[in-house]
Amino acid sequence: MANSMYEYVRLFEQPDVLLPNTWIVVRIDGRGFHKFSAKHEFEKPNDRRALDLMNAAAVSTMTEIYDIVLAYGISDEYSFVLHKNCTLFERRSCKLVTTIVSTFTAYYIQLWSTFFPTKTLSAPLPTFDGRAVCYPSDQNLRDYMSWRQVDCHINNLYNTTFWALVQKGGMSAGDATQALSGTLSSDKNEILWSKYGINYNNESEMFKKGSILYRDFELASESQDPPTTEDAGVEKPVSKTAATRDRKAKTKAGVTIQYVDMIQSLFWDLRPWILS
Ligand code: ATP
Ligand code: ATP
Ligand code: MG
Ligand code: MG
Ligand code: MG
Ligand code: MG
Ligand code: MG
Repeated sequence: MANSMYEYVRLFEQPDVLLPNTWIVVRIDGRGFHKFSAKHEFEKPNDRRALDLMNAAAVSTMTEIYDIVLAYGISDEYSFVLHKNCTLFERRSCKLVTTIVSTFTAYYIQLWSTFFPTKTLSAPLPTFDGRAVCYPSDQNLRDYMSWRQVDCHINNLYNTTFWALVQKGGMSAGDATQALSGTLSSDKNEILWSKYGINYNNESEMFKKGSILYRDFELASESQDPPTTEDAGVEKPVSKTAATRDRKAKTKAGVTIQYVDMIQSLFWDLRPWILS
């Protein structure tokens, strides 16, 4: 483009390249979903259709953006993990966040009618905010995921008890809040069991654990000669062609959804390719 006297305004743009060789987590969150969920009469405490819609939008986002290796969703939020080696948009934060937020939002709106066939969207339309944070070590990333999953558990236990008091116990929202103020997890489990015969352990795994999305490399790679990541610990040099082949196999793999514990090591031990 020709230089013009106006070109200097570019100098006002601030660099926002994210630290190299770190896991990038982009977390998005629905704006004003407390109101949005009331407007569209989401079932409380957990509307399964709304969670399935969030998951479907996240699967489409992950399918489109290859650098996302893992995603985790609860309530109106989703965390997308980009690989340490990600070079998309030269790792520019704004580019990554806005692309993920708008891709997710576009699919959320497109898929809405599949999950809510009788509810028509109207202004204010669903929108999401987003941020990017870098995590230097695998342990930092795992701690981030554990943080979100613990949040899911704490919120879900609270919400399940709160709505039992309101829906089954006929309490007002204010009285239920009062009743739960200062209670421990064990107290909430006890209220659910003794008053309503609800065993919290039998609640849906999706509600208790949140939704984990990753590429199902093992399934896809059965006929594709997978890398021997089981040999972790024995460092072997990987040729460039092998690395490219592994990457292709990973990106070709379908996205799977699981509702399991990520806090213990087992999840990661069984799926070594996610962080490889
Ligand atoms: P903000 O714009 O600050 O994020 P918010 O109203 O979206 O405000 P959040 O803390 O993000 O507040 O909480 C999201 C709210 O959306 C939950 O508290 C809950 O009321 C509602 N919500 C989201 N998903 C569901 C669902 N699947 N079923 C029922 N309610 C839901
Ligand atoms: P990037 O993803 O890097 O933004 P891009 O292909 O979107 O790549 P831009 O620099 O944003 O590149 O340029 C947008 C291009 O889209 C224009 O160069 C033009 O070719 C096309 N385009 C956008 N709006 C119109 C329009 N109204 N009519 C015709 N072409 C358009
Ligand atoms: Mg928010
Ligand atoms: Mg929100
Ligand atoms: Mg939220
Ligand atoms: Mg463009
Ligand atoms: Mg442009």
